[in-house]
Amino acid sequence: MLQQGWIVKAGLEEVSEDAPLSGKGQGRPLVAKAQRRELEAVLAGGTPLALVMVRVAGFSLFERLYGATLASRVVEELERVLQEEIGRLSPQGQVLILERLEGASFMALFPNGVHGLADLFDMALRLRLSVRNKLNHQVMKLTGQCLRIEAGCSFLPADTGRNFESLLHFALDDAHQAARGSLDPSKLGLMHQFRQILEVPLLASVYQPILDLRRGEILGWEALARGPEDSYFSSPQMLFDFAEEVGNIFTLERVCREQALAGLGGVGQGQKLFLNIHPQTLGDPSFRPGQTLNLLERYGLSPHNVVFEITERHPIKDFTLFHRTLEHYRSQGYLVAIDDVGTGYSGLSSLAKVRPDFIKVDMSLIRGIDTNPVQRALLETMVTFANKIGCAIVAEGIETQTELTSIVAMGVHYGQGFHLAKPQAPKPQICLPVSLLSPGQRRGGQELTCSMPVRELVEPALQVLPETPTKNVKRILDSQPIGGVVVAQDDRPLGLVMSHSLDRLLGAYYGTSLYWERNVTRVMDPVPLIVEGSLPVEQVAGTAMSRERFKIYDHIIVTDNGRLMGIVSVQKMLDALARVQVEMARGMSPLTGLPGNVALEQEIERLCRQESPVSLIYADLDNFKVYNDSYGFESGDQIILLMARVMSWALRRHGEPDDFLGHLGGDDMVAITTPERAERVCQAVVRCFKRLVGACYTSEDRRNGFVMGKDRAGRPGRFPLVSVSLAIVDSLGPCQIGDISKRAAEVKRWAKSIPGNVYVRDRRSPLAGDEAMAPEQVA
Ligand code: C2E
Ligand code: MG
Ligand code: MG
Repeated sequence: MLQQGWIVKAGLEEVSEDAPLSGKGQGRPLVAKAQRRELEAVLAGGTPLALVMVRVAGFSLFERLYGATLASRVVEELERVLQEEIGRLSPQGQVLILERLEGASFMALFPNGVHGLADLFDMALRLRLSVRNKLNHQVMKLTGQCLRIEAGCSFLPADTGRNFESLLHFALDDAHQAARGSLDPSKLGLMHQFRQILEVPLLASVYQPILDLRRGEILGWEALARGPEDSYFSSPQMLFDFAEEVGNIFTLERVCREQALAGLGGVGQGQKLFLNIHPQTLGDPSFRPGQTLNLLERYGLSPHNVVFEITERHPIKDFTLFHRTLEHYRSQGYLVAIDDVGTGYSGLSSLAKVRPDFIKVDMSLIRGIDTNPVQRALLETMVTFANKIGCAIVAEGIETQTELTSIVAMGVHYGQGFHLAKPQAPKPQICLPVSLLSPGQRRGGQELTCSMPVRELVEPALQVLPETPTKNVKRILDSQPIGGVVVAQDDRPLGLVMSHSLDRLLGAYYGTSLYWERNVTRVMDPVPLIVEGSLPVEQVAGTAMSRERFKIYDHIIVTDNGRLMGIVSVQKMLDALARVQVEMARGMSPLTGLPGNVALEQEIERLCRQESPVSLIYADLDNFKVYNDSYGFESGDQIILLMARVMSWALRRHGEPDDFLGHLGGDDMVAITTPERAERVCQAVVRCFKRLVGACYTSEDRRNGFVMGKDRAGRPGRFPLVSVSLAIVDSLGPCQIGDISKRAAEVKRWAKSIPGNVYVRDRRSPLAGDEAMAPEQVA
């Protein structure tokens, strides 16, 4: 980390990009006096200073294209990343100064007693790779473009007796030259390490399962490469970035592929191996299907078991060739996934052209999806899109139960993430009941959604006629607090002019002379998003957020039968969605993420009105108080979670796809399924809960089969392990909600009076049916 107190924040030196040491900046000291003394003292003490400079190439063009605000955000981000990285990478971890020179160019100085030029080259390269990675992650989101990062290094020799400023200028000039030509890989110590990794090979694969979220089964395994532990190359990102840098992607990929197959240990019936393939590799002569086929056969696999994951983080240079190559592999039975969707180059239209078998949605869209309405809207659009073009969505990076719950409720087909299992070698065991998904908000499409039509959010639009000169539109936009105007004729919208787009056009070379006097039609967006006011907010938000990046925050024009009603800003729409999200969250149990009382009541009321028969399963834990008393509430919560997971799993395994599970609070849960499925679900719950609950006890209690405690009246005694009691109540047609509750209470009492894990079915005449019989114990 950068040492606190050592950082000098310089004022921006106005120096031209091509000649960093000339122009207005020349003659002014590059570092402040106090820091200079510090640095001079190091040199005088006989320790040379190392200088590393990092810059964004072509930054002034970037600034012109995207404007000063975005450019200064990039500089801030660059500085933040440098502060994070440079201290970590510098030989002694001691950075004396990190200073901005001009534009997006920084230099760092640190004492360098022992390291030679090769080490310094290594460091500059590592810095460049990390900065490129981290900075472009942000910049890509903002602009859809990647920045080129350059890094160079040099020394300020010790004890030369020369003036510090001139030493610094020489060193900066050298570093600048090194940054502009690429660093010679033969000089890099890292190159030797890298070669060794490929030759031995010192690579291995870890495997992360991808789960079928509807069936709870494993769809397949993604192989992820790992370099030697504790080395610079332990992470695949570093391996691949370095390989790209030194032009050795193909060999690295081949070794990774071989290692992935060698360590796999086969796959289960119908399971798939997901292999990451760099888009460049598709054009690699050694990546021939015949060779891959031989390799697969050696490990008992066929092309149908293999999914090639192609990331969209890298641009595809020749789309036609890419497409043809993919088709070639597919004709032989291989499947194709587009990886990291949402981070990079492919819009929905190019996805539609490739028609992958899987779309892997990047974790930046998944993390926190349970609380972010924009992400939800985007993912929902993708699911609809995938269903339309006949492919499946894989959500990557699921880290929490609530993220999983949201994703399942949205109908996402497959999921992957640390919450389900971390990548491991050999393949991790995953115990399905414990990593469970919650059926819940699915029954009968009963999701709580924002059904508000978008017209309710409309604001009046400022309209101009198509023949209005651009200069008038600019004046309107400058004089009023509105983001855009609608170009319309006879109340029919023809286009949209957003203030920020107009400024960009006019600010470009010859922008003003080209457009100032011309009609607004020259500068308007002729294909803005126009929607009918009756459409639900979610749907509009989904479409809005899937627009091209530079239009994503443009207003949406709302019409009524094609006539202009007004506009809606993206912000307003997202605020409305956020409110709904909060309402939804209120209805959910914070512990289990399952729908709570309100949703359950709505569901039961709905069922009471319908003709088709249903069964309600009421679940309750026995001896739970004593467990809570002796093990504490946190452990008690774990048992409730276990019960939720077991019930959820049993419903998915033995129930119908749209079954419902609600959590009333405490240890009370209710499941709703069909009468034919109810008993199988209960049998699975009883069996599975009994088996898993033992893990919640100390080995001594488990062995004894009881714990010592006090009952509700404070009487001491031995109490059996926690068990589950289930009560089934059937309704054959329309009935009263009060009748159901009364029956449920009676049958549950009956179930609880029987020791152990049991379920009981009400055998009296079903509600909305004939005469009563006594409840019957069935397990
Ligand atoms: P990817 O293909 O998108 O792989 C998923 C990455 O997300 C993996 O990182 C995985 O460990 C990580 N991950 C999975 N679940 C979670 C989660 O819940 N939370 C978080 N924070 N991370 C999660 P990893 O292994 O570091 O790989 C990074 C990238 O390196 C991969 O991204 C892939 O693009 C590339 N890569 C890895 N192995 C290979 C390979 O053999 N060939 C090629 N071409 N690329 C590879
Ligand atoms: Mg992948
Ligand atoms: Mg990915």
